[in-house]
Formats: sequence, structure tokens, C-alpha cells
Amino acid sequence: MEINIGASSCLLGNKVRYDGTHKHVKPIRDELGKNFNLIAVCPEAETGMGVPREKVDLNGSVDKPRMIGAETRIDWTAKMNRYSRQKLIYLKAIKLRGYILKEGSPSCGMEKVKLYNEKGKILKKARGLFANCLMNNLPLMPVEEEEKLNDQKLLDNFILRVFAYDRLCNIIDKRFNRKAVLEFHLDNKYLITSHSRKHYKLLDQLVAAIKIYKPNEFKEQYSTLFMEALKVTSTIN
Ligand code: SF4
Repeated sequence: MEINIGASSCLLGNKVRYDGTHKHVKPIRDELGKNFNLIAVCPEAETGMGVPREKVDLNGSVDKPRMIGAETRIDWTAKMNRYSRQKLIYLKAIKLRGYILKEGSPSCGMEKVKLYNEKGKILKKARGLFANCLMNNLPLMPVEEEEKLNDQKLLDNFILRVFAYDRLCNIIDKRFNRKAVLEFHLDNKYLITSHSRKHYKLLDQLVAAIKIYKPNEFKEQYSTLFMEALKVTSTIN
């Protein structure tokens, strides 16, 4: 079965931006489209803001940013948060395994979205509202912004992590089975060590002590370390 990964719809060439344009990024369609089934998501259009629409910005604090219309000052925060929670139910149900987000967007931006105070001054950088919901709900899933994918090494690493995350989920989502976990660990030994010997050592220690952990505790610790290891750029070219 093909692996599903999500992408900000405008990056796939769909004209859904506030001004009716797109932000098509070639490597996403070409490289990722070859390997995965791409699911286009435009939180702003799907929330009912329309295309074209008024530009929105993030205002307030980093912890609780609000999504406000730049001219009308309409507050879209509650609608966007509600939409995001509902969309996450769907994305989890289709076993989403990765996501490409649009940099700088108040909905989709992963980390450097401008956050304004009441006087219109930029306070800090925040995360877009939809991106925040996505990353909180699926914290181990590989997520990148489109700019990073122009670097072939980072693009290759993202693809590798998506495949690895899919294999991990296929083990973890099933009923906890010690034998399957040990097999998974052995099968992935060279992959993990090629990225981080330190992580492999920690994972090995965890597996050696598997009997002392409760299943959920073990799953969480193993999964976190495994995905962290693969984020380290491989020492093998
Ligand atoms: S950045 Fe996100 S919300 Fe904005 S147009 Fe692209 S997909 Fe839609």
C-alpha cells in the first residue's frame, strides 16, 4: 500500500494562497510524488476563508497566538483550531507518515512565523496554528518545511525517515509483541548506527532491559530514540 504524506496544498501547485496564486516547489512533486501518495491540505481554504481572501497574521503570545485578519481584524483562531483538530482525526485515520509545510505561513509555518503585537510590531517567531496541532498530535512523524528540501541531503533524509517511520508504526500500532520489537531492532541495526552510534547504544540498552518496562513506556522511549537517531545526518554518503 502506498504511503501517505501530507503537504501544504499551495506547494503542490494548487492556487489556494490568499492572493489566488500557488508556491509550487519542484522537488516535492517530482521526488516525493515518485515515492509517496501526496495529500494536499490547505487549512485556510478548508476553514472557509475563501480564495482569494484577506491575508491573516499571528498576533499575541507564542503560547497562545491568535489568527487575525490583517485589515478587518476578524479573529479566525477558534475556527482554525477546530478545523485543525478535526483534520487531524482524518489524517491519523489514513495513517499519515510525513508532512511538508509551507515556511512562514500563519497556518502552516513550522517555526519562523512572524508574531505581531497590537501596535503591529513583530514580537517573536511562532508556529502556525495548523502546524502546531499537527506536530503536537504526531510528534514523531517526519515534518519539514519546503525550503529544506532544496538540499538533496535533507530531502534524502526526509524520505528515509518517512519509510522508517512507516515501518516503526507498523510494529508499534500492533499489539505489543516483544519478539517483533527485537526483530525490528536487529533489522535496523545498520541503519541506526550509520546515523548515530550514540543512539544505537541507548536503544540497545533499552531493548536489553525490555522486560522491566511497561509496553507503552517502552514503545514511547524506543520510538522517540529511533526517530531522533535518523534525524542525525548519516555518516555514509
Ligand atoms: S500556506 Fe497553508 S494555508 Fe497558506 S495557502 Fe498554502 S496550504 Fe493554504
